[in-house]
This record gives sequence, C-alpha cells and structure tokens, in this order.
Amino acid sequence: MAARGRTPSDGPSAARTRVRACAACQKPGEPDELVRWVLGPDGHVVPDLGARAFGRGAWLHPAPDCLRKAQSALSRSFRTQVLTSAEEAVQLLSEAAGVQVGRLLGQAKRQGLLSEGGTLTEEAYQEGRASAILVAADAGRATLKPWLERAIEAGRARIWGTKDELGRFWGRPEVAVLGILDQRLAKRVFGGIAMALLAPEQVSRGKRIETSDRGLATEDE
Ligand SMILES: [Zn+2]
Repeated sequence: MAARGRTPSDGPSAARTRVRACAACQKPGEPDELVRWVLGPDGHVVPDLGARAFGRGAWLHPAPDCLRKAQSALSRSFRTQVLTSAEEAVQLLSEAAGVQVGRLLGQAKRQGLLSEGGTLTEEAYQEGRASAILVAADAGRATLKPWLERAIEAGRARIWGTKDELGRFWGRPEVAVLGILDQRLAKRVFGGIAMALLAPEQVSRGKRIETSDRGLATEDE
C-alpha cells in the first residue's frame, strides 16, 4: 500500500473530522472550547459565537494569551492582512458574549430550565438539579447564604448582572438568584460569562492586569 503524502501537521487526529485548532497556539480544541472568527469583506473579523455564519472562518481560544496574537494569527489563517487589533477583537468578543448569555438565559426561561430565588434555587442545587447559579452583583448580604457562598467558592455560582438584568430574563422587576437546571446550558452560560468579562487591557502589549476581581463588577449596559 502506497504511503499517503503527509504534511508535518498531520497527526493521528488529522483524519478525524471536526477537529479544530486554535490559529494562535495551534492546539486542537472541541468546538465549544474555541471561538470561530469570520473574515468580512472589509478585512475586519467578527466573532461567530453560534459558529454558523457564512464566510471564511478560523478558530481561536477565548483566552488572553491566544487573543493577544489574534491579528497575526488570523492574518496567517486567512492569508490576508486582518485589520482588527487584538484589543478590538476582545471588545467585540466581550460584547457578543454578553448578548449570547442573555439569549441563552431567555431560551432557558422559555424551556423551563431556570429556577428563581434563593429558596427554590437552593433546593434545586442541593438536589443536584441546578448545574449553575447566577447571583446579581447588587444582591444583598441576606441573599449570600452559606450554601451560596460555598457554591461561589466551588465555581458553581457566578456573580453576573444586576437584579434588574436577571429580572428581565425571568420577567419580573428584580431577581437576585437564578439557577440553571441544565448542565450543557450551564456550561455555555458560564463560558459566555467568562468571555463577556474579558477586557481589552488583558491583551494590550506589555500589560497584564489582575482579573480576579472582575467577576464582581457590575455589568454595564
Ligand atoms: Zn489557543
């Protein structure tokens, strides 16, 4: 049997379909670990979080180390000079991710995959039905009961939005706690929140900022 022509990038996984690699670090990743970027006719790129947009696409990890190289890596992938800077790319990704989180929560509400309020959400969490919890940044100290603080420490609960914003997903003026009753959806929401909290300063050359407190910041409209 004749040997197939192989390029250096061919590996055992090269034959598998659906394997995508990050254009910056070259590491392969599952579709939900990478963000697809689409090249527009004007030379700028936009994030395609649904990975459904028409056009030429390339993939990047939504991580500062990879996004810092977005412009050169995507220029290489698209074989043309991409005009979007790393800072602009992060700004676009953060905005798109914020919109996507809202869309996912709206969808979750319609499908009955949300629980509202501390009591019902605690029940759902203790019974293993709530995969993730969102706590409004302006929720009072009374909301942050020990079980919820433990969930935050365990990475199962995140501070996100304001009571007004969470209330909008639920259809009530103010909501302090929302539980997400679906594991897959919870993973997507938390992934979206992590991207929404990215800041252009994180990819500015020669600058690294401490990001550990950003999760507590109130989301600006
Ligand atoms: Zn990467």
